[in-house]
Amino acid sequence: MLITLMSGPLKDSYNRPIRDLRVSLTDRCNFRCFYCLPHGEPPMAAKEQMLSYEEIEYVCGIFVELGIEKIRLTGGEPMMRRDIEQIIFKLSQLREPPERPHPAGGSRTSCAPGLRDLALTTNGYFLPHRAHSLKEAGLDRITISLDSLKRDVFKQMTGVDVLDRVLEGIAAAKEAGLDPIKINAVIVRGHNEDEVSDFASFAREHDVKMRFIEFMPLDSGHDWSREDVVSGREIRQRIEARFPLAPLDVVRGSDTSRRYGFADGAPGEIGIIAPVTEPFCGACSRIRLTADGQIRTCLFSTVEHSLRDVIRDGSSRSETIDFIESVVMKKEPRHYINDPGFITPSRTMSFIGG
Ligand code: SAM
Repeated sequence: MLITLMSGPLKDSYNRPIRDLRVSLTDRCNFRCFYCLPHGEPPMAAKEQMLSYEEIEYVCGIFVELGIEKIRLTGGEPMMRRDIEQIIFKLSQLREPPERPHPAGGSRTSCAPGLRDLALTTNGYFLPHRAHSLKEAGLDRITISLDSLKRDVFKQMTGVDVLDRVLEGIAAAKEAGLDPIKINAVIVRGHNEDEVSDFASFAREHDVKMRFIEFMPLDSGHDWSREDVVSGREIRQRIEARFPLAPLDVVRGSDTSRRYGFADGAPGEIGIIAPVTEPFCGACSRIRLTADGQIRTCLFSTVEHSLRDVIRDGSSRSETIDFIESVVMKKEPRHYINDPGFITPSRTMSFIGG
């Protein structure tokens, strides 16, 4: 008897569907954020070790057929990669529902819906001149990092004196029609916690989604300390002292943030991402692919799995799928930041792809 298996979404061993892939396009970054890459990159890995855009397109095609619905391009600074528009264009073609046999072949059929969401996280530096080309290439939406609204604090946190240029970049992204625009701020004690409500005011004025992120132990300087973490709870209290919030009536699902609107109905939105004080691993739907082709099943993984070696050693598509499925089964149940034996990952956020 011929049995037809419908391939559902990728699932890990805890039955969590994996629908969200973060792809780091490069380890390089033109900023020196003290909480990420304060001393710059170590000597660059050889170019041949990085995935080419054809390889990125190939593996993302497989991931989408396996049920990935959302791809976020990140880095390093992904816009330092000159072929980023080409990559976006190729990936945007994955939106078509795949009316193909199951990629593993045989009698299986794929019921993957196709890519629904193609996003980019950037520091905004290159946006004033390139926001339009990203949109034209097929990008849906964008997240821009902005850690301070004060020039001196921005410079102190990011290592570069370019606040005005990033603000211009945000305006250019808006003008290009990238929607929604999310703004990420990592809040670190003693640096920018006093700006939390100013950021909320910025969200209202510019009608953007402001997302506050707790400082995580992913800095290359290994200077993270628990005392520097401003909790999601404190962030919310600081905002509410000035602008009362109303929780948004949205299913959180695997979303990393808790979302709020302004109680007075003003435009803009607040998202609070609190992986340290309020972990959300139980609903995690994410895996990551580093610029050199390693799959990471958690931000805090201490092991990586070389998809690059698999595709370069002549493996068939079906063997590659088996590899991906087996790696996903190894996804960690949760992160261990709050456990006494926590081991900081050897690679930092800029290499993992935030
Ligand atoms: N270069 C791009 C950018 O600046 O947005 C993309 C890569 S960056 C690693 C992605 C996000 O990770 C940024 O919003 C950044 O602020 C955040 N990030 C980096 N290190 C972090 C840390 N130690 N804790 C929390 N967030 C961090």
